[in-house]
Amino acid sequence: MVAANKTHIKPHVAVLPSVGMGHLIPLLELAKRLVVEHGMRVSLLVITTNAPLAAQEQLLCSPDLPPDLHIVKLPPVDVDKVISSDIDNVLVLTRLCLITEESLRSLKSVLVALGKPRALVTDLFTTQAFDVCNELSIPAYLFSTTSAAFSAFALFLPKLDSDVECEFIDLPEPIQVPGCIPVRTEDLLDQVRNRKIDEYKWFFFHISRLPLASGVFLNSWEDLEPVSLKAIKENPFFRQIPTPPVHPVGPLIKQEETLSTSDVECLEWLDKQPPDSVLFVTLGSGGTLSLEQQTELAWGLELSQQRFIWAVRKPTDATGAGSFFDVGSEENDPKAYLPEGFLSRTQGVGLVVPSWASQVAILGHPSTGGFLSHCGWNSSLESIAHGVPMIAWPLYAEQRMNAAMLVEDVGVAVKPKVEPGRTIVGRQEVDRMVRMVMDGEEGKTIRKRVKELKESAAKAPDISGSSYDSLSSVAKQWKTDDLGP
Ligand code: UDP
Repeated sequence: MVAANKTHIKPHVAVLPSVGMGHLIPLLELAKRLVVEHGMRVSLLVITTNAPLAAQEQLLCSPDLPPDLHIVKLPPVDVDKVISSDIDNVLVLTRLCLITEESLRSLKSVLVALGKPRALVTDLFTTQAFDVCNELSIPAYLFSTTSAAFSAFALFLPKLDSDVECEFIDLPEPIQVPGCIPVRTEDLLDQVRNRKIDEYKWFFFHISRLPLASGVFLNSWEDLEPVSLKAIKENPFFRQIPTPPVHPVGPLIKQEETLSTSDVECLEWLDKQPPDSVLFVTLGSGGTLSLEQQTELAWGLELSQQRFIWAVRKPTDATGAGSFFDVGSEENDPKAYLPEGFLSRTQGVGLVVPSWASQVAILGHPSTGGFLSHCGWNSSLESIAHGVPMIAWPLYAEQRMNAAMLVEDVGVAVKPKVEPGRTIVGRQEVDRMVRMVMDGEEGKTIRKRVKELKESAAKAPDISGSSYDSLSSVAKQWKTDDLGP
């Protein structure tokens, strides 16, 4: 009788994203899929601080979350106590890791209180969870929130670190990750550009623990990254690490959004525009520009005379990721910093919204025909999944690597050039890029390519698609493992 009942209890797994919308969004999507399509119960463990993020709260309070998905907030971290005032704002990963480390002190008791889930899925910057899972005999999986190319680079990093003495950015040649497309040193992510600072130490700490996972989920699929996926699965270098089993389950992107009044207004405005005519401009959850760069972008948009929606942030010279920890919560009056008269001159052609817009709903709207993006991995996948060509504007983290891949390997983006002797993209170049994507021949070519990929992006995670099957095979294993409730 007891055994018969047990078969009806849905197996329970925990999902633990690290801090930041770019981590929460895909792991929440994974959690939803496990519940809705694979018959699991999921506890989504959320790292919180004493300054809740408006955009995060909106996502977690959505009435559309399925009943077997439970949000469990870890006790809030007092950010001022954990991050001393001498830690620079630029050190985004260091700040993120310090918050995470403090938050995960409660993880063991939370997992025990939840009755020891059958598995835990976490992401790249929360690998302390592996130790806790080890103690509790819970298999720990890793979900890589970025590209397969990046995951291959990450798996190669310990070897690179032991072989190379100088800074990686001083290497004379691009970095040849075995079996993969070489990475130009200027495209290397911020966290590996100076090996002497904490930013690198934290990055290296987490990255080098990747092989400890019981399996690695990749937010990618064969048609998008055939070379990197083949390398990780088959190249002798990765096999001898040994690399845990990899499961491409992408694209897992936000499906629907809870719309605010300003989101609805935005979509109503889009309804009135011709198909493929509007450029959407937003720079991820954290991206910010300097005042000088933002001014050039504004002038470039105006000069191009193309329609646009711009989710604009308060400029800052300090860091390209200025809003990472407070997006959607910060005070923001675009009139205070956009060029004098910009809002009235572009009225009707452009729509400026402060800070945050419902990106997925905008990208999915038939009037949206281009996306100026910082090339965060979720934004890149969302753009491809909706068949929208991109202007690549990478700012921080691994975005330069993503941008290079989108422009040169995948062929769905163009990237503006910085004039010699300058550090910013000038207004003429912005104008040229925007016209090229929205109106030019090159725009037509990348639009055709992204529309092809849109189809394969829809098929892969759909029932019987390759990504669906990949997730299903792990879920089946969790269902049969008799490790817990
Ligand atoms: N996003 C959004 N509205 C905005 C900016 C970002 O909804 O105005 C969402 C976007 O849809 C994506 C996520 O925030 O899912 C950003 O993730 P990504 O990996 O692109 O960049 P990150 O924020 O991690 O740098």
